[in-house]
Amino acid sequence: MEDCGDPCIKCEELLQPYVDRELTDEERIEAEAHLALCGYCARRYRFESTLRRYVRKCCEEQMPVELKEKLLALRTPLL
Ligand SMILES: [Zn+2]
Repeated sequence: MEDCGDPCIKCEELLQPYVDRELTDEERIEAEAHLALCGYCARRYRFESTLRRYVRKCCEEQMPVELKEKLLALRTPLL
């Protein structure tokens, strides 16, 4: 597995909409193929999906707004 650059252009194009489930079937296949090849994107995808799961869980449990903002701020250094 090789990193294809940091930050990887593909990440910006595909990863965010992929995590948010906003891709067409064709684009999703492309994103999955890229994740299988690119270590950087694979790590980032794991982080993004974990974060979303955590945020969703916390929202259900009525997470305080300050905490939610703190979590969202954690994403910034990766962009
Ligand atoms: Zn990549």
